[in-house]
Amino acid sequence: MHIDLVTLSLVGALQALLLAPLLLAATRAYTGVARQSLRIWGTVLVLQALGWALMGARNQISDWLSIVLANGVLMISYAETARALRLLLGVPPRRGLLAAIGIGGWLGIVWFAQVQPDYPMRVYIATVSLGGFLLLLLWPLRHALRRGGSTAQRVMLLVLVGAAAGWFFRVCELVFGDVPTPGLLAATPGNIAQMIYSAMEPVFASVGFLLMYNELAQTELRRLARTDALTGMLNRFALDEMAQELFQRTTPHSGAVLMIDVDHFKAINDRFGHAGGDRMLATLARGIGRCLREGDVLGRVGGEEFLVLLPDTGIDDALMLAERLRTAVSTIQVMLDGEPQRVTVSIGAAVRQAEDKSPGTLVRRADRALYAAKSAGRNRVATLDAMRTVANVTDAG
Ligand code: GH3
Ligand code: MG
Ligand code: MG
Repeated sequence: MHIDLVTLSLVGALQALLLAPLLLAATRAYTGVARQSLRIWGTVLVLQALGWALMGARNQISDWLSIVLANGVLMISYAETARALRLLLGVPPRRGLLAAIGIGGWLGIVWFAQVQPDYPMRVYIATVSLGGFLLLLLWPLRHALRRGGSTAQRVMLLVLVGAAAGWFFRVCELVFGDVPTPGLLAATPGNIAQMIYSAMEPVFASVGFLLMYNELAQTELRRLARTDALTGMLNRFALDEMAQELFQRTTPHSGAVLMIDVDHFKAINDRFGHAGGDRMLATLARGIGRCLREGDVLGRVGGEEFLVLLPDTGIDDALMLAERLRTAVSTIQVMLDGEPQRVTVSIGAAVRQAEDKSPGTLVRRADRALYAAKSAGRNRVATLDAMRTVANVTDAG
């Protein structure tokens, strides 16, 4: 069977070239880090197309183009591949280190092409550089896979191991094989295996990349869907989920919730406008968050109402924590129109009872306790749980 290496390298180049605009066009609407990595990936595909086309023309164009330029372009593409994947893995891109590996490898290749021509040395140097890039990818990938990882990450691992195996095979052939006139386009098993892999790699690696990208986009969407835009904390939807989880983990008298509502908040909005009110709300949310214990969950139910979920907490501790929150909030000052402003909060507390069948009943009882705190004059904590018939209100004065 005759396998033509020039044709193979051109097929690889053409695939990469066609994939790049498709990928970029299909993902125009995406945002954030994921989009940045996609742009890099698109550029990588164009660079690989150029690099492999120049390599394939080895005997028809000058060595400056086919070796010096082609290797330079491919080095940049490999460094950028590592950067794009590191971004997707959520680790710092290490641009300096990637550039050092790429430039070092390229200079070595140029030396052994123009000053002291030596084909095997060029392959060894390229292999060492690629090994460096690979390590910078395998390290974070290994960490991610140790934490459970994902199918997309395993696919990418396979692509990388495939590339490494191809290079390893080619180096072994040069060291131990008996190749009469070694060269990139000599149809040796190592060169053929590597060219076939390189021709398929744009598609193969792009699928792995897109799977990883998709995973990141999903995680980001899920985070956004659960976050309150103003305060950055959990929103009502996420709180419902967390309350359900908490409810399943707790037994009666060992899980509590606090419903918090800012007193006379309309007045703040009326005096300082909605923007001033927003600033006050964001500051209050941070202040409340600082008072909580590890494991407590805070979220914004809506408007100027917050809900706190307290795992493993009885009514006494819940009331103590609520009182701490109330006092802390009353000391928070927010500068609005150049004047320091303070507000107070009313808090309703409820602890899980034997008859509670869902987190909803628990939260509704906290809401009724909040209403009792408001009726009793605001700026206070109330519960209906310690004494089931009469609101038990802590008067803060
Ligand atoms: P109280 O709770 O003490 O009975 O009085 P209140 O003035 O706080 O009354 P209420 O809780 O009924 O009103 C809440 C106000 O919060 C009404 C609305 O204008 C304001 N609000 C709701 N959501 C937002 C928001 O996202 N930003 C701002 N700035 N204001 C909001
Ligand atoms: Mg209010
Ligand atoms: Mg309210």
